[in-house]
Amino acid sequence: MRYAVFSDVHSNLEALEAVLQALQGERVDQLLCAGDSVGYGADPATCLELLERSVHHMVCGNHDLAVADRMDLDWFNKPAQAAALWTRAVLPSERRRYFKELPLVWKDSQVTLVHGSLNEPEQFHYVLDAEAALKSLRIQETPVAFIGHTHLPGAYIEEGGRVTFHRFSRMEVPPSGKLLVNVGSVGQPRDGDPRAAYCIYDSQAGELSIRRLPYPIAQAQAKIRKAGLPELFADRLAHGY
Ligand code: ZN
Repeated sequence: MRYAVFSDVHSNLEALEAVLQALQGERVDQLLCAGDSVGYGADPATCLELLERSVHHMVCGNHDLAVADRMDLDWFNKPAQAAALWTRAVLPSERRRYFKELPLVWKDSQVTLVHGSLNEPEQFHYVLDAEAALKSLRIQETPVAFIGHTHLPGAYIEEGGRVTFHRFSRMEVPPSGKLLVNVGSVGQPRDGDPRAAYCIYDSQAGELSIRRLPYPIAQAQAKIRKAGLPELFADRLAHGY
């Protein structure tokens, strides 16, 4: 099975279109999205429409739940609260309803998909170190799991109770042990590389890759400013943090 997995589109249509177009050139059996489709960017409705049409399985992120009124806005900082309220106002109610039905976790026999961590997925813990990764890996039943949430791509490998972190563009899946893979972010990268990120996993070949794609950043920034969203959301797209 060949999976394409991405996360954290955050209403960035320009970045999403670039990724979906690149994926047309790939032989992909399953397209998965690890949540946070909205928040920060200026195109929530069009992004959701595209995602609903193209993605096979999607889980809910904290920003999605905020827009669907399934999560307290106090969880978020002020600019993110402003983005959630703006998104609620511009998103047609049937699109907001779509979030109400999305699960927090999805899995098949080979991979698991969750936004933050399998450890209390409804709490959206950030996996930023080996200790947090281990809490999720202990619950993980499939050899590979995919997350987003931190917007920092990389893989945690667990072998014999020991967890190591690897930044990679291409890697072979170890024959034993488990992998927790952060696929980074399509629309709000925060690892210093402003290009959109997505992941390809070939379960038969045991091969993983993180791809990066340039997209028209200035266009996405102009729309954010025109919508009156916090300036910060536009600025940081250029720097990838
Ligand atoms: Zn996010």
